[in-house]
Amino acid sequence: MSLDGRYDADNIFAKIIRGEIPSVKVFEDDKVLAFMDVFPQSRGHALVISKTSQARNILEIEPQALAEVAVAAQKLAKAVVAALKPDGVVVTQFNGAPAGQTVFHLHVHVIPRYEGAELGRHGAGGMADVEELKALAEKISAAL
Ligand code: 5GP
Repeated sequence: MSLDGRYDADNIFAKIIRGEIPSVKVFEDDKVLAFMDVFPQSRGHALVISKTSQARNILEIEPQALAEVAVAAQKLAKAVVAALKPDGVVVTQFNGAPAGQTVFHLHVHVIPRYEGAELGRHGAGGMADVEELKALAEKISAAL
């Protein structure tokens, strides 16, 4: 999907928000949800989404919802760093398929980086073990 097009209310993150498919949550409130990426590019890779906005990307999102997502991304990044002690952390997001976006509900990636550990390929990694993701999410949420 390019930058043109419409929001698909049945995209995978919309289903996660509605509880129609499971996710391993780190924290949520009525505005935002942080959860573990199921195809992680590194140990502790997590995502933040708005629960109120139907924006596909940063060009569409309402400023207030963007601010909520940004604050949540910082909160998540701090907790990931405190819990997992990576050597660095990538905070990023993609807009449009040619830019690497694969799920068309705006989201921010928080990807811890460890010295000497190669980054998994974006959107091409294997599925994580759910029990491992739950253990990581518990550790991260304990550091909030
Ligand atoms: P994008 O490529 O759109 O920037 O990022 C989408 C992210 O969502 C990818 O990192 C991908 O691994 C992750 N993802 C795709 N499907 C699911 C899913 O069903 N559950 C979770 N938790 N993450 C997903």
